[in-house]
Amino acid sequence: MGYIELDVLDNQPKRVVIGIDLGTTNSLPAIWKDGRPEVLRIEGEPALVPSVVHVRNDGTAIVGRTARAQALDDPEHTIHSVKRFMGQSLSDVDPAVLDRLPYSVTETDRGLVQINVHDKSFSPQELSALILREVAAQASVAMGGAEIMSAVITVPAYFDDAQRQATRDAARLAGIEVLRIVNEPTAASLAYGLDQRKEGNVAVFDLGGGTFDVSILSIEDGIFQVLSTNGDTHLGGDDVDAVLMDMIRQEAEGSAKPSTFDDPSYRQGARLASEKAKIALSSKPEAELVLSLPEFGVNVRKRITREEFDAAITPLVDRSIKSCAQALEDAGLETKDIDEVVLVGGSTRIPLVRAQVEQFFGRTPHTELNPDEVVALGAAAQAEILMGGSRDILLMDVTPLSLGLETVGGAAEKLVQRNSRIPCSITEGFTTYVDGQTAIEFHVLQGEREMAADCRSLGRFKLTGIPPMPAGLAKVGVKFHLDADGILTVTAKEESSGQTASIEVKPSHGLTEEEVDVMLQQSFDNAKRDFEERRRVDLIAEIGTMLRHTEANLDVAREHLDRESVEDLEEAIAAAKAAGKSIELDEVQAARDVLDRATIPLAAVLMDGVVKQAVAGKKLGDV
Ligand code: AMP
Repeated sequence: MGYIELDVLDNQPKRVVIGIDLGTTNSLPAIWKDGRPEVLRIEGEPALVPSVVHVRNDGTAIVGRTARAQALDDPEHTIHSVKRFMGQSLSDVDPAVLDRLPYSVTETDRGLVQINVHDKSFSPQELSALILREVAAQASVAMGGAEIMSAVITVPAYFDDAQRQATRDAARLAGIEVLRIVNEPTAASLAYGLDQRKEGNVAVFDLGGGTFDVSILSIEDGIFQVLSTNGDTHLGGDDVDAVLMDMIRQEAEGSAKPSTFDDPSYRQGARLASEKAKIALSSKPEAELVLSLPEFGVNVRKRITREEFDAAITPLVDRSIKSCAQALEDAGLETKDIDEVVLVGGSTRIPLVRAQVEQFFGRTPHTELNPDEVVALGAAAQAEILMGGSRDILLMDVTPLSLGLETVGGAAEKLVQRNSRIPCSITEGFTTYVDGQTAIEFHVLQGEREMAADCRSLGRFKLTGIPPMPAGLAKVGVKFHLDADGILTVTAKEESSGQTASIEVKPSHGLTEEEVDVMLQQSFDNAKRDFEERRRVDLIAEIGTMLRHTEANLDVAREHLDRESVEDLEEAIAAAKAAGKSIELDEVQAARDVLDRATIPLAAVLMDGVVKQAVAGKKLGDV
């Protein structure tokens, strides 16, 4: 089994692995040193990079503090909060947020967010890559020129695949190898060493600049599992600032010119003044909102007490506490089941927030570590764990090859990735493929290749007794548990009936180091072909599902469709059926695309029917 060599030849830059908290407001690198994680510092100050990019007139970009300094003078060309747009379509983004942005955001042909500055457009990944590159550069300076090779990067627990993939892509663009993407609440818990607990439940309350989330984690033998997450992607310090900005506006309303409040530089000025007062109120009983912009006729100086501030932000804090209650309910737990509470994010310094969280969970939250640093510290701890810390441990505590299941069409779906730390548990949801299916056979696989036939078969088992229902409705959770000795137990459970079945296998049994190397080499050699084959069988499976739906609905909707649409559909159905047997990826792809397009009129007719049904029987006012 290989491991990554850290010591390098003299005269060469030292290559290191770091943890990066890639935040909405700020990003921060940390490293493991002398047995504990520590935030990287330059001349005593944290190597913090504001997650801000400023694009100059000549199109060049600057990042971090110098970019943030441009926020007031040149807000239209200074981009903050790009994390909100990672892997998102424009339609996913709250219009209220778009309204508040001083810079221009539009969508690409494919509906994805793009940010426009001067005559250039950037994807969120590109901007994020610029931030990551700056973080790596700062980290390098902090370590006397060490070269940053790889990193553990954190993301919110609720990030979906597209958002995680966008984060990986950003790192790749920045030339950083991603050792692992880790959930922020897990990182925060690791920073507090909670993985040392035999078992317990942790609530991680994270109120940052732009987002709030609460995660309920369970720990079992040092393994974290996210039981539930809740939150609000549009609740954070920015909203607290907005409350104070409203107060400034009320004060300024009498004297300011009418167009003032829409002006980007007024907005940035008011934002900075609000944040300053807010931060002061975390440690003082009162503060002043100060904004002087003579060119707009604005000259505000307003005293605000902690009580007034608390009253004004109570609705925001209440929203966060409601989310906590929901997260607990979703996890099937009560407050008494929570053993530890961890606070993350700069906004948890607000005294009212701390008090309300403590009151709700009935226990004092961990605040020993800096809430702005705890995620980065945890990322560094995770990096250390993955790098093996002591090499003896590495040799026994990672799985050398990925483990997974065969899916419809013969593809291999990996549940446990190669080099995952063991022991570990991963659960993924599967469903039935045909209507009325009452049993599923699981084929457990080991290896890196895309097709099941090219992986090593570890065993098969069958889950029976699934109540008959339409395809895709059954919910089967499949859990891969790999214990510290490398013994894999795979358990499948159908949710509605509670039916379970399982198998125990020893994945590493009989595999020598050479065999592992050969399997890895093969997967590299065959990567392109494997990928295409995987794509082909996935497409064929998708065509199968589309055909079933289309044929079932065509009978119902035929009379509402014009003749041409019906002919197109019938042709597309015939072509798709033929392509299902094709071995050419291009043919299969083309047939799927043709079928997809041909179903548009059918979908429109069906939607129309649904809408009519929904509207029928309701008063106009209800609609
Ligand atoms: P984060 O995204 O975790 O870096 O959180 C940044 C947010 O925390 C911003 O909205 C800051 O204004 C806010 N923040 C930082 N320090 C304080 C403080 N002392 N009191 C209140 N809010 C703070």
